[in-house]
Amino acid sequence: MDSTYTNIIKNAYREISLLENKGKVATYIPELANVDDAMFGVHITRLDGAEFGMGNNLEKFSIQSIAKVLSLTMAYKIMGERIWSRVDVEPSGTKFDSLLLLETYHGIPRNPFINSGALVVCDILISHLDNAREEFLDFVRALSDMPHLNYSDKIADSEKAHGYRNTALCNFIKSFGNIENEPAEVLDFYFDMCSLEMNCQQLSKTFTFLANGGHKIIDNKKIISKSNSKRINALMLTCGFYDESGEFAFKVGLPGKSGVGGGIVALYPGNYAIAVWSPKLNPNGNSFKGMKLLETITTHSELSIF
Ligand code: GLU
Repeated sequence: MDSTYTNIIKNAYREISLLENKGKVATYIPELANVDDAMFGVHITRLDGAEFGMGNNLEKFSIQSIAKVLSLTMAYKIMGERIWSRVDVEPSGTKFDSLLLLETYHGIPRNPFINSGALVVCDILISHLDNAREEFLDFVRALSDMPHLNYSDKIADSEKAHGYRNTALCNFIKSFGNIENEPAEVLDFYFDMCSLEMNCQQLSKTFTFLANGGHKIIDNKKIISKSNSKRINALMLTCGFYDESGEFAFKVGLPGKSGVGGGIVALYPGNYAIAVWSPKLNPNGNSFKGMKLLETITTHSELSIF
């Protein structure tokens, strides 16, 4: 990794480490609250394979909503453009677990990255696969070349025991006919999918395919077409940060996706993927330090898609 990148990341990491962390760890999934909230990691992987990480970059965490990008990728491969008749591609401007717009849009979620949209994507995978839970994990393991990646039963069970809003969302969508399978089955798979664990290094490597026109960087294997990869990136840019997507585009200027576990992955097409992790979240549910770190890195590097 050339010193321009490493110096920018080192300086930004030091600067943000000194900030008072005003965020709060997510507690609505009780098991998520057991994390050490001082964790702070960053890892960048460039398309030529060069990489650099700092802090707690090798400590695994619950990637939560970041996994929604991977489930969408798998479902998009299976359904092609027909997928957009089940889920739309518009920012919601509401909270990630909101029921509000489902009534207005007759059970068609605004986009695949809010919970309602991700539940529909899970339903699609269940309908098309023999065993969605296993085949999704196999897909992610093959995509990342990391055969040991796994779900966390602890986190999934904890979310399942308290997942009243997601249960409401799934049943509500079912009432409009946009969930084909039994809600209980869809929810089980959704909670497992969200409980996937990775560290910053693994996350940045896994997401390089979206910075590389849909192809893996290791063997250039095609995961999705260039056009589909562009569309997923566009969705990350417009819908990847709940109700703070505009702010992320404004301040960071890269497609990305956050999760309530405090992780964020972002990518600069043609250049790199970067993952950050700090569990305390800002009021919009995005990692407080993670957002600031990415903003500082892209400001100092003067590299963004704009
Ligand atoms: N499993 C979480 C939920 O459904 C994912 C939310 C997130 O990371 O944004 O609430």
